[in-house]
Amino acid sequence: SEHYDMLVVGGGPIGLACGIAAQKAGLSYLIVEKGCLVNSLYHYPQNMTFFSTSERLEIGDIPFVSINPKPKRAEALEYYRRIQQKFDLNTHLFEEVISVSKQKDTFHITTSKSTYTASYVVVATGFYDIPCLLNIKGEDLPKVRHYYNDPHYYAGQKVVVVGASNSSVDAALETYRKGADVTLVVRGEGIGPRVKYWVRPDMENRITNNEVRALFNSKLTEIRPTEVDILTPDGLITLENDFVLALTGYQPNFAFLEKIGIKLSEDASRQPMHNPDTMETNIPGLFLAGVVCGGMNTHLWFIENSRVHATQIVKRISEIEKAKG
Ligand code: FAD
Repeated sequence: SEHYDMLVVGGGPIGLACGIAAQKAGLSYLIVEKGCLVNSLYHYPQNMTFFSTSERLEIGDIPFVSINPKPKRAEALEYYRRIQQKFDLNTHLFEEVISVSKQKDTFHITTSKSTYTASYVVVATGFYDIPCLLNIKGEDLPKVRHYYNDPHYYAGQKVVVVGASNSSVDAALETYRKGADVTLVVRGEGIGPRVKYWVRPDMENRITNNEVRALFNSKLTEIRPTEVDILTPDGLITLENDFVLALTGYQPNFAFLEKIGIKLSEDASRQPMHNPDTMETNIPGLFLAGVVCGGMNTHLWFIENSRVHATQIVKRISEIEKAKG
C-alpha cells in the first residue's frame, strides 16, 4: 500500500489546513474524506449564514472575500473548493476511513476503497455526522429529521421544531416565512444564549406576536404519524403534526475514536485525550485537529480557534523527526 508521512482523516476546513501545513513543511500527505469536499458544510442548511466573519474562516493565509459581514454557506463552499484547487491538495473524496492501527512505528489505515501506511495520522472528523437523539417513541418515523435543509419543503405543513439553539431558530424562522405552521418546543425557559445576536430579536418578536408558537420548559414525549405529544408545565398536550425537525445538536463519532484507540474523558464531555500544545493523543504519532477535540462540548471549538491545530501538529512532527536524527 502507498505510504505517506501524514494521513489526514476528514476533508473539512481543518483537515484541509493540515494538508496545507504538511505541504509547506515538505511532508508527503493524503487527506481522506468520506463525502464530498468540506462535507459538513455541504450538508448545512442551504441558506445558512455563518456566525463568524469571513476572515475568521480563512486557512492557508488566503483571503476569504465576501461582500457580507458574515458569509453564507454557498460562499464558504466556493472558498474551500478554491483553496483545495490552489494548493492542489492531495485529497481522496468519497472514501471512508474504517480503521487505523499502529504496528511498531507505522500506522496501517484501511478505507472503504484501499489501504495505506503512514508515519503520522491526524483525525479531523468534526462532529456533524451523528445527531443527538431525543430517544422517544416515533423518532424513527420518516417525518422526523435531524438535519434541516430548505424551507420550501415545509410550506403549508404543521412543523414542530425541537431545540432553541442556532439550528432550531434558523429553521423555525425560515419555515414560518414560507408558510409553515411552526411550534418551537424548548426544554429550557428561553431561546439559547449562543443564538446569533442579530437573529435573536427576530425570533423573540415572532414568538411575542404569536406567529411562531413557543412552548418553553417543555419536551416532546411521543411522535405519531399525524400527531405529537408534548409535556408542558400545564400538562400533556397533543398537537396535529406533519413534520418534526429535531435539531438538538450533534456529536463526534465516539465509536470511531474509541475503535482506533483514543481515550475519552470519563465525564459527560467525553473529550478525546490529547496534549493541547501538540494535539497528540494518547497514541504517539496520532493527532486530533479541529472541532472533534471538544467531545460533547461542541461549542468550544470553531474554525477560527482550531485552524492553528494544523501548525501545532506539523511543529510536533518536525520535533519528533529531529529527535530521531
Ligand atoms: P468538519 O468540517 O466537520 O469536517 C470533518 C470531515 O470529516 C467531514 O467532512 C466528514 O465527512 C469527514 N469524516 C468524518 N468521519 C470520517 C471518516 N471516518 N473517514 C473520512 N472522512 C470522515 N464554525 C465556525 O467557525 N463558524 C461558524 O459560523 C460555524 N457555524 C456552524 C454552523 C453549523 C450549522 C454547524 C453544525 C457548525 C458550525 N460551525 C461553525 C462549527 C463548524 O462545523 C466547524 O467550525 C467546522 O466545520 C469545523 O471544521 P472541521 O474540519 O474540524 O470539521
